[in-house]
Amino acid sequence: MAIEVNEALAARVIELRRAIHRRPELGFEEHQTAALVERELDALGIEHRRLAKTGIVARISGTKAGPAVALRADMDALPIGERTGLSFASEVEGKMHACGHDAHTAMLLGAAHVLATMRGGLCGNVVLIFQPAEEGPGGALPMIEAGALDDPSVDAVAMLHVDSRLEVGTIGISPGGVSASADEFYVAVKGSGGHGAYPHTAVDAIPASAAIVLALQNVVARETDPLATAVVTVGTIEGGYRNNVIADEVNMSGTLRAQDPGVRDELEARVRRIVAGVASAYNVRADVRVVRGYPPVHNDAALAERFAQYLRERSSLIVERPAATMGAEDFAYFAQRAPGLLMRLGVRRESSGATHPGHSPQFRIDEAALPLGIIALVLFAIAVTSGEIRS
Ligand SMILES: [Zn+2]
Ligand SMILES: [Zn+2]
Repeated sequence: MAIEVNEALAARVIELRRAIHRRPELGFEEHQTAALVERELDALGIEHRRLAKTGIVARISGTKAGPAVALRADMDALPIGERTGLSFASEVEGKMHACGHDAHTAMLLGAAHVLATMRGGLCGNVVLIFQPAEEGPGGALPMIEAGALDDPSVDAVAMLHVDSRLEVGTIGISPGGVSASADEFYVAVKGSGGHGAYPHTAVDAIPASAAIVLALQNVVARETDPLATAVVTVGTIEGGYRNNVIADEVNMSGTLRAQDPGVRDELEARVRRIVAGVASAYNVRADVRVVRGYPPVHNDAALAERFAQYLRERSSLIVERPAATMGAEDFAYFAQRAPGLLMRLGVRRESSGATHPGHSPQFRIDEAALPLGIIALVLFAIAVTSGEIRS
């Protein structure tokens, strides 16, 4: 079956996307966005319920029995001041849809339009998940805990993320690991203060911290398999009072990234061991705190391969297999509960200025990609519910 998005629907989806873009809302504050989603679902006669404060789960039931598929879009914006100069730019100071979640939400509503008209010929159930707070603190887990994947129990779950590396007309579908875990770490180095002229009477936290920062570079350079992927970044370092005072305390923070869950565990253990060892050598105390963030996203390999082929046969989309990134996505939690597929939708086009990466104040997409994203979502729903592809 080939799916078409007619001009009226394409125009409606652009209108919805721009309305969301004008009123960006941060995590768990997506009240207007959620209300817009609910109004659109009501107009389509699609039943829905609220979960996890501003999250919405909707269901389109087919007329025949069959598997259940979930399609997920995130709705939140970022605390970034928009500098695109677009006519529909953010009207909220210091907030912007700079990651494309406005487009994700609008495309899922577009898919709802198409699926609602196909209801009579549909098998099983299509669950539409509109998720809050992907940029933090994370809305996926609270939605899952509130039952987003349970009624009906979902057999496969997919999402689209716009991607400024890929040209409009292309879609990225890669089997296996596609994003990284993102864990935060904090190190508090404590010595004892004193006069800068008498270092022997104090324990200086600054050289100890410098040694810790340098020693941490060893985790990736010397202790991680060169064929594995890992990042250890120290992002902040603060300490000291003035030029002639020995600092008694330095605080630093950083991020740990890995694609493999085993490497992720090793990173944490190595950071702890190295910090403790260097601290001991420099006679300071160092406390390490690791806050676990999103796990890596693992695309179900069979689902990815089969759907890539399915899309090639039924759409004009060029299906590519982009390399994994070290970014993080809380879709990972959905993909842990059911065979999952994170797809990357090309939105890049030089002539429309759509070249800046996500999280840039100049980020923009080429809206010609929106109907293509809808087609991919609808075809995924049909492929799974009809039983034509499975993991
Ligand atoms: Zn983002
Ligand atoms: Zn995003």
